[in-house]
Amino acid sequence: EKVRLENMRSDFVANVSHELKTPLTSISGFVETLKLNEDIDPQTRNRFLGIIESESNRLKRLIEDILLLSFIENKENSLVDSVNIYEVFIEIYDMTSYIAKSKNIKLTYEFSDKSIKVCSNRDYIKQVFLNLIDNAIKYTPENKEVHVHVSSLDGNICISVKDTGVGIPEEDIERIFERFYRVDKARSRDVGGTGLGLAITKHIVKSLGGNIRVKSELGKGSEFIVIIPQKNFL
Ligand code: ADP
Repeated sequence: EKVRLENMRSDFVANVSHELKTPLTSISGFVETLKLNEDIDPQTRNRFLGIIESESNRLKRLIEDILLLSFIENKENSLVDSVNIYEVFIEIYDMTSYIAKSKNIKLTYEFSDKSIKVCSNRDYIKQVFLNLIDNAIKYTPENKEVHVHVSSLDGNICISVKDTGVGIPEEDIERIFERFYRVDKARSRDVGGTGLGLAITKHIVKSLGGNIRVKSELGKGSEFIVIIPQKNFL
């Protein structure tokens, strides 16, 4: 077990180094080019600056996600609070509905009970909603739909985020919760993904004693289902 954990750790360090190095190489390359070519035409110059900007943003997102993952791993359930799930969801809905609108995606929701509470760090619940809804929108083409359903069933809170997007190939389903695993690297990159969102989500759900699973059909859509046990109710 010790050897396995040690291997996992060194794989993670290797992956992090690689993921950070890629945008950094690009940034320093374009800075160097701009420095060496002072008479570069304004259009090309702006294009290079645009690349530097988006690669810096990518670096920022990566570092934020890596720090968040490490925070969750180390602190487990710190700052536990009585969290109203609906209130947290609405904050995320307000944020993500703008992105959905820009793709003309219909983002809808249904709560069987708006007073459902859970004993958790408030930011954890926010992060779960944010990652799942953000992914659903990212991996769903324009003019389609994303639906969030929250209910309490058999002593559990059940959160479902269902999209009508690209879907996930069967052979990848097992692996999408691994750190940095992406079905389509180019697509994830284009939509600003870091490959850490689902790893973070799974960690949070596990720290709440719950589980997460996914049902998906390629080309038709995916449904992420999070179950958190009722014992976490306050
Ligand atoms: P990323 O930052 O790349 O989105 P995630 O950890 O959030 O990383 O997801 C891992 C991979 O799982 C994604 O790159 C994508 O291939 C796949 N994925 C996640 N959510 C969905 C979804 N709703 N529909 C289709 N594929 C998804």
